Amino acid sequence: MPSLNDGASARIEAALAHIDISDDIAQGLAQPDAALKVSVPLRRDDGSFALYPGYRVRYDTTLGPAKGGIRFHPDVDADEVSTLAFWMTMKCAVMGLPFGGGKGGITVDPKTLSPAELERLSRAYIEQVADFIGPDTDIPAPDVNTNPRVMGWMADQYRIIRRAHRPDVITGKPIEMGGSRGRTTATGDGAFHVLATMMKRWSREAAGTTVAVQGFGNAGVRFARLAAEAGYRVVAVSDSAGGIYNADGLDLDAVEQAKSAHGAVTAAEGEEITNADLVTLDVDILAPAALESVITADNAPAIRAGIIVEIANGPIAAEADGTLADNGIVVLPDILANAGGVTVSYFEWVQNRQAWYWDAETIADRLEKRMVEATERVAERAETLDIGHRTAAYVIAIEKLDQAAEARGTSAFFRGDDHR
Ligand code: NAD
Repeated sequence: MPSLNDGASARIEAALAHIDISDDIAQGLAQPDAALKVSVPLRRDDGSFALYPGYRVRYDTTLGPAKGGIRFHPDVDADEVSTLAFWMTMKCAVMGLPFGGGKGGITVDPKTLSPAELERLSRAYIEQVADFIGPDTDIPAPDVNTNPRVMGWMADQYRIIRRAHRPDVITGKPIEMGGSRGRTTATGDGAFHVLATMMKRWSREAAGTTVAVQGFGNAGVRFARLAAEAGYRVVAVSDSAGGIYNADGLDLDAVEQAKSAHGAVTAAEGEEITNADLVTLDVDILAPAALESVITADNAPAIRAGIIVEIANGPIAAEADGTLADNGIVVLPDILANAGGVTVSYFEWVQNRQAWYWDAETIADRLEKRMVEATERVAERAETLDIGHRTAAYVIAIEKLDQAAEARGTSAFFRGDDHR
């Protein structure tokens, strides 16, 4: 069985220090329910043949069918997919969604493939995992380097295999193929609702509050835009080529134009900075929205932001948690802050099952309500237990799994010492 990385295990341990759960669920959390490894065949355009390793993991299905994205990346391996599937389990549980956690991927650099090769590979992956996934068992979605078009190909391949339309097998599809309104903006929207809810709790104003966003992509752009509209001062943004800084606040329209015209935010006006500089800027709010492990034990002592909104998955390595906490830095954790995406994926699945589609306003209202409620739950638990928001989110998620396990009867019940 693939295993969890040390960081995920450390965070489970931190949460378990604050809750008393049955040994049954503690055992279950240590490893995935099921893991599939496949070889995904591809006929290249030049006639040659290649096999790529592919994976799908259902980490936990106590609360419902597994839910989680499919990643195309050269670094994908069994352990990474398993750890990402564990995070999805925590994310769905903390959000109160009727899903467990899953994840999948192919070890491939999609930039080396033509569009036709990418389509054949996406369809071939579904051929290999079709009996492992399903609308009632395991529902994929996009992740790094996969997008609505890829989800559309995959949903279409599932239709061909099953000889039936099952749009609820995959979320993040193009709207024309049963996708949901609001899915592309959902992650940035959700992260902003989390921040806004906390700012209200702290009685802090947006005006005069400075923000730096690492990763000016889908989620980062939306978050930066909403922050600027709400009166925050967005002073720095970056992409893979580097960042720009303006103490008076950036003109985000100009940055977006520069990015689309020249492919890099550094083409816009502002002082050029590196990604390393951006992370340690003296700002109120830092929003890492690009990659994993950008804050580690090495740079944690240099972080000057008071609040970190984790829009990316795992931008803070577990080894940095202690230093950030000691320095009084509040971390709004990924399993809450970037959960807007999976929440609207849930809405997509519900709409597909009902064949009844909601308007943009309904989606936006329902997303905001769920994000605000989940943030309040996490904040209250953090205050009651006097712990960080990440550990509080894990406590809520693990407790939810434990309650569902208790409802079925755990070891204590079957031994006869628990008569609930
Ligand atoms: P994206 O590909 O649209 O944007 C990523 C951005 O990060 C790009 O601007 C890219 O240039 C930048 N980037 C890449 N390497 C970088 C580097 N070394 N330094 C600085 N910037 C770099 O991706 P996205 O959909 O916005 O996702 C961003 C993060 O949010 C990822 O970690 C993803 O897993 C997470 N996330 C996204 C969603 C979603 O629905 N989009 C949901 C949950 C989590």
